Amino acid sequence: MNERIYLSSPHMGDGELKYIQEAFDQNWIAPLGPNVDNFEKEICKYSGAEHCAVLSSGTAAIHLALIILGVKRGDNVICSSFTFSASANPIVYQGANPVFVDSETNTWNMDPVLLEKAITDQIEKGSKPAAVIFVHLYGMPGKIDEIVNVCKKYDIPLIEDAAEALGSSFKGQKLGTFGDFGIYSFNGNKIITTSGGGALVSNNEVWIKKARFLATQARDQAPHYQHSEIGYNYRMSNIAAGIGRGQLQVLDNWVEKRRANYYFYKQNLKDKGFTFIEEPTDDYFSNRWLTTVLIDKTITGFDREVLRTELEKYNIETRPLWKPMHMQPVFEMYKNYGGAVGEKLFESGLCLPSGSNLTTEQKELIINKINAFS
Ligand SMILES: *Cc1c(COP(=O)(O)O)cnc(C)c1O
Repeated sequence: MNERIYLSSPHMGDGELKYIQEAFDQNWIAPLGPNVDNFEKEICKYSGAEHCAVLSSGTAAIHLALIILGVKRGDNVICSSFTFSASANPIVYQGANPVFVDSETNTWNMDPVLLEKAITDQIEKGSKPAAVIFVHLYGMPGKIDEIVNVCKKYDIPLIEDAAEALGSSFKGQKLGTFGDFGIYSFNGNKIITTSGGGALVSNNEVWIKKARFLATQARDQAPHYQHSEIGYNYRMSNIAAGIGRGQLQVLDNWVEKRRANYYFYKQNLKDKGFTFIEEPTDDYFSNRWLTTVLIDKTITGFDREVLRTELEKYNIETRPLWKPMHMQPVFEMYKNYGGAVGEKLFESGLCLPSGSNLTTEQKELIINKINAFS
């Protein structure tokens, strides 16, 4: 049996160990240190964001963004329904209520028209949303121009969840820099990893300083431990940041490899009942974090679950697309606008192995197994 082929596994470059060694040499084995400071600067340089705080996870970054925007108990926060639960969980951490909005079919991300409908409907009911969390799923840029305009029109702060979209851009501008806040994730399965970690970016310096303060237990300036606010232990370690610095150097290279995976699958599977999501115009640049296919079972004769279990026999990991939040038992009591688009994607879509470290032999094996089965 071949070695297991993962959906997306960590892929180290040549530089990570050097930064870890430096941390050991200087004994900066702590959630602060030179790697942390430099990783923040390097993320700013890469993304074009003016300020950055690196944190223990992408989820922590979303949580801090909500806190800094003043989201509190009983507030409504609009969130993409078609996403991973980590986009929405921090809303509930704050005691606020998620309001889910469905996707459009071009990019699979939140529909700006439906977003405006949800906002006006909530305003009519006397509960203007306190924030919008907009997700760029699988690395594909959403209709971010239109989303920004809708949020501006109603004066609602925008958090861009770019956890899966580091390295993607729209009109040449990196995702994560369009909203009031952007967040990135460096979890083990993301496009680059620090084993676990995240970043919060913004052009607002006061907010990022506040994020660092809250992330280090909200310690006031005093020789003793003095607190006038509730804090969190959300900072990134200097070891993890060292990994991140090395990973950032190979990011663009890894993006090219992920994009090559997508072209390879598309070349070999198109016109056989599999459809791929396209960048709608040249303005959209996707990092192709995961290559996804929609399966038309009237053509293939099998659905995504049948294909998934078949590939599993050969130790090939695939996964259904995200199950929308409005269909999740833990969120089904919350308000939801639309839903049919996300439901259909979940029903017919499958994520294929997409790591930047996939070999040609592995990709060929996957295609051969799919073809043999079709
Ligand atoms: C991974 C992910 C997150 C959370 O990031 P962590 O670093 O795992 O906490 C948030 N949103 C989306 C869309 C993600 O894919």
